[in-house]
Amino acid sequence: SAPAAPDPLAQLNAEQRDAAMHGTGDTAHDTRPLLVIAGAGSGKTNTLAHRVANLIRHGADPQRMMLLTFSRRAAQEMERRVGSVLQKALGLPGTQSLPGLPWSGTFHGIGARLLREYAGRIGLEESFTIHDRGDAEDLMGMVRHDIGLSETKNRFPLKGTCLGIYSRVLNTRDPLEKVLQDTYPWCSAWEGQLKKLFGAYVEAKQQQNVLDYDDLLLFWAEMMAEPSIAQEVGERFDHLLVDEYQDTNRLQSEIILAMKPTGQGVTVVGDDAQSIYSFRGATVRNILEFPSQFAQPARIVTLERNYRSTQPILDASNAVIGEAKERHAKNLWTDRAASHRPQLLLVPDEASQARWVADEVLRQREAGSALKSQAVLFRTSSHSAALELELARRSIPFVKFGGLKFLEAAHVKDMLALLRFAQNPRGRMAGFRTTQLIPGIGQATATRLLDAMSEAAQPLQVLQSFDVPSQAREEWTRFAALYAQLRDPAVAWPADLELAKAWYLPHLERLHDDATVRKLDVDQLVRLAAGYGSRERFLTELTLDPPQSTSDQSGVPHLDEDYLVLSTIHSAKGQEWKAVHVLNVVDGCIPSDMATGTQAELEEERRLLYVAMTRAREHLHLIVPHRFYVTQQSGGGDRHMYASRTRFISEAMAEKFERITWPQAGAADAAAGAKPSAPVLQVRDRARAAWR
Ligand code: ATP
Ligand code: MG
Repeated sequence: SAPAAPDPLAQLNAEQRDAAMHGTGDTAHDTRPLLVIAGAGSGKTNTLAHRVANLIRHGADPQRMMLLTFSRRAAQEMERRVGSVLQKALGLPGTQSLPGLPWSGTFHGIGARLLREYAGRIGLEESFTIHDRGDAEDLMGMVRHDIGLSETKNRFPLKGTCLGIYSRVLNTRDPLEKVLQDTYPWCSAWEGQLKKLFGAYVEAKQQQNVLDYDDLLLFWAEMMAEPSIAQEVGERFDHLLVDEYQDTNRLQSEIILAMKPTGQGVTVVGDDAQSIYSFRGATVRNILEFPSQFAQPARIVTLERNYRSTQPILDASNAVIGEAKERHAKNLWTDRAASHRPQLLLVPDEASQARWVADEVLRQREAGSALKSQAVLFRTSSHSAALELELARRSIPFVKFGGLKFLEAAHVKDMLALLRFAQNPRGRMAGFRTTQLIPGIGQATATRLLDAMSEAAQPLQVLQSFDVPSQAREEWTRFAALYAQLRDPAVAWPADLELAKAWYLPHLERLHDDATVRKLDVDQLVRLAAGYGSRERFLTELTLDPPQSTSDQSGVPHLDEDYLVLSTIHSAKGQEWKAVHVLNVVDGCIPSDMATGTQAELEEERRLLYVAMTRAREHLHLIVPHRFYVTQQSGGGDRHMYASRTRFISEAMAEKFERITWPQAGAADAAAGAKPSAPVLQVRDRARAAWR
């Protein structure tokens, strides 16, 4: 027989191997659910990938595995890792194609697919469209206005706050009263009105055949409450595996339980010390309660060896998280010794912070760390503004993750609304946005049209024969023709997008002075579309998992190019770099000024710093600008603030860091550009000398 292929599991340590092999081979009789709980960089994600590969090698069908990750990117990365493990294990040549994992993705993405598939049986229309956060807020605002709760009249909470409350009620499964008490105490007086508002909001979504993000989880959970469907859906999957379990919410844990009540085939991995999404309703209680949640108790595997970071980086990170009020003590160790400690850099202001980082990034590159192996992390998207300018000035290529506004740009929204309106003629937000692009069509006309369309069996005919104000008539005819084509099944994707673009461009030019720049985004949208099989898929996935970076937009990954990563800490979860530079490690930024209200909020900020620090493999720099700029949330203008080192790094842990002041005394003035330095040369003297 052929020589045995290398066993990929041999690379794992004993605990990792136990987790990867649980329920297969010698332990095939063990049907317990599995929980891997372990600290940062201990190989949880890596173990999960090996587990998937190992299950497949033991005959599991990849079509019958559901793999839930935090982002679509993470799912793709997992699929790649599983593929490479399998490739080695099976001794396949690199060209051989491997089984994909068709059911890997985010909870929301997988939920959308299941709901569309089961739509007919659970009272949904298959053609439903999905509201992004902006649409959901706008609809909430519209409903709020319609039932007479306008903010101007009686200071009723803003539409964003209303949506936040509604969303929290659904995701935490707590009653409205408790959510108000715990999280929105200043809105408690409005409980009755809010209830009425949410009732009307739910009604409106139904009438319009739209779902919001929360519905994707809620309806999935509801669907699983029907025993016949629950059994059928549950039985379609032999394995259900979840990464980053510490950031799931109640609704998500309910779904897992309903999918697999016995716990057989369920694997979750997570780290309670890295829970950073409680503002979205995530709760570490999920991890804590997992062991006793199913018909049989779970097997728990803990991992203690860290493979990512050097000992000094671990020491510093452990010191920071060690002061957390609540956590499972973990003893992470590593054999990656290093002589240098993480650096704490004291700089005068954000401009010098930007200069220092740019210098350091280049220094690291000189020393052999490609830009790609480095990242700059920050608490809030706006914190990188000064650095972005500095990088651009020095032509250092970078991509930015998190907080990207591509889909929020008006022209991109216009295009997407057009497609959504074609997909679902009853969707009001899309309908309003689209029809009002036409001069002469105002709110009143749009309302009449949409009312008529939503009641008609043939909405297209209603639109085609609709009587519009005379100045709009000519353009309306063109629009009606486009709409007919977009509704025509014979016009295939993405040809319909090209038609939409052709119709839209003249409007773009009319509406915006900077149309040329905006047109580039529209072009990018079209390019992006090529990666999706259908309009429905495109709209769903773009809404659920918008492009995360400036490079994602083009749909073309930077394969060869070297670039620096800029990312919010939240978006950096699960990833690692050789060198990590963290900006604004000062009180007011970490912890954020807006998160110092309660002990729980503060604790989450501490975990956030821990997540940032544990992304680093070899070099970690925490930068502390003495002065920084704050953008006021509620008017009042921006202002400078004097800040001090974050409270999470106490004097007692100071020896874990190397403290550096930059620029050093003496060099300060020159570097800060405050005073011109003494000239090294006097050209006029030379000129004079020539005539002497
Ligand atoms: P996080 O909590 O940040 O998500 P994690 O626990 O998921 O971290 P991984 O990302 O899976 O950790 O692994 C961290 C690093 O350690 C990766 O570079 C991975 O390749 C490496 N690693 C994991 N296990 C081993 C091992 N047994 N031998 C060598 N390297 C390993
Ligand atoms: Mg991980």
